[in-house]
Amino acid sequence: LTSRLPKVGTTIFTVMSALATEHGAVNLGQGFPDFHCDPALLDAVTQAMQAGHNQYPPMPGALALRQAMASKMQALYGLACDPATEITVTAGATQAILTAILAVVQPGDEVIVLEPCYDSYVPNIELAGGVAVRVPLTPGSFRPDFDRIAAAITPRTRALLINSPHNPSGMVWSETDMRRLEAMLAPTDVLLISDEVYEHMVFDGQAHQSAARFPGLAARAFIVSSFGKTYHVTGWKIGTVVAPAPLTAEFRKVHQFNVFTVNTPMQHALAAYMADPAPYLELAAFYQRKRDLFREGLATTRFRLLPGEGTYFQCVDISNLAVPERDLPEGDFCQWLTREIGVAAIPLSAFYGDGFDQRVVRFCFAKKDETLREGIKRLASL
Ligand code: PMP
Ligand code: GLN
Repeated sequence: LTSRLPKVGTTIFTVMSALATEHGAVNLGQGFPDFHCDPALLDAVTQAMQAGHNQYPPMPGALALRQAMASKMQALYGLACDPATEITVTAGATQAILTAILAVVQPGDEVIVLEPCYDSYVPNIELAGGVAVRVPLTPGSFRPDFDRIAAAITPRTRALLINSPHNPSGMVWSETDMRRLEAMLAPTDVLLISDEVYEHMVFDGQAHQSAARFPGLAARAFIVSSFGKTYHVTGWKIGTVVAPAPLTAEFRKVHQFNVFTVNTPMQHALAAYMADPAPYLELAAFYQRKRDLFREGLATTRFRLLPGEGTYFQCVDISNLAVPERDLPEGDFCQWLTREIGVAAIPLSAFYGDGFDQRVVRFCFAKKDETLREGIKRLASL
């Protein structure tokens, strides 16, 4: 059998979570909350089921949820989008990104990704027969390097994939960054896939600069969101894609034969729950407090903190640790940390094609305060 993805194994998140469970470690690796969602959201699911929302929804998703998303895009980002032709409900952001790529990438097309990047992007491009062109983010700051992005654009470039707030670095694109991108893409027909799953986790008074805010970007973009991150329900696997009607039409051609549609009661529950904007408007403050708690704790250890402007991830440099294992490759270090110290982390090298080793690992702070305190206590021994 010739593998479609010869270089791919099991995702690092799956591997590290299994190892954390096996060793009873504090799991600060894979990104998911260890606390419950709002009980009102669970009540909304029960109500949706009891109201009979248990059969297939329309192929593009429950209309109520698409309408709720349209209202939110208008209210937060000033984008008018038509729920009938410009919003599709997906099985999380993962399926949204794969489907967008399958919909627009032809064999041999180039798709630019900015490294480090989420682990599904490059395999998704390869499944479509495309060529992933990896452009590094600026080392250290993880900010976009527009000269390098511009230099990577060729007549074969079909799309650019961006992600702000950024997993794994926590870096957030500024308004200036987005304007530069808009100007750079203006003379091209390069499409944009904007992975905005952490849109509501931007700290210190900054605003999320959705591609939706920039007409020149919105006109060429698939804007990807995920309810899993926003409402503490990563296992629900529901997201949305907002894209102009011609792009959405192509997206839906693939979507209908990929999953056809996604589960009904959760969509109705989310639509009802979205009537109140408070949960997502309060999310930044909620996670900023956790970020601060975690950073203050880590500041007392030998881990060196990297900046964290958004997401629920915190990257740290391990080169000052007082143990010889600090010199292990990042992946081996994370395995050792999980087994021997009882804290799971994700090596940054997992977000690079060639396993670039920078002495940096990623922790997830979407955890109860007591989990974070226990993690810090264990990390302080290094
Ligand atoms: N993109 C990024 C940057 C992510 O961090 C994640 C979640 N781990 C996803 C996409 C996938 O989101 P979902 O769980 O909704 O498929
Ligand atoms: N996005 C999550 C992370 O970065 C993991 C999702 C997954 O396990 N695929 O940790």
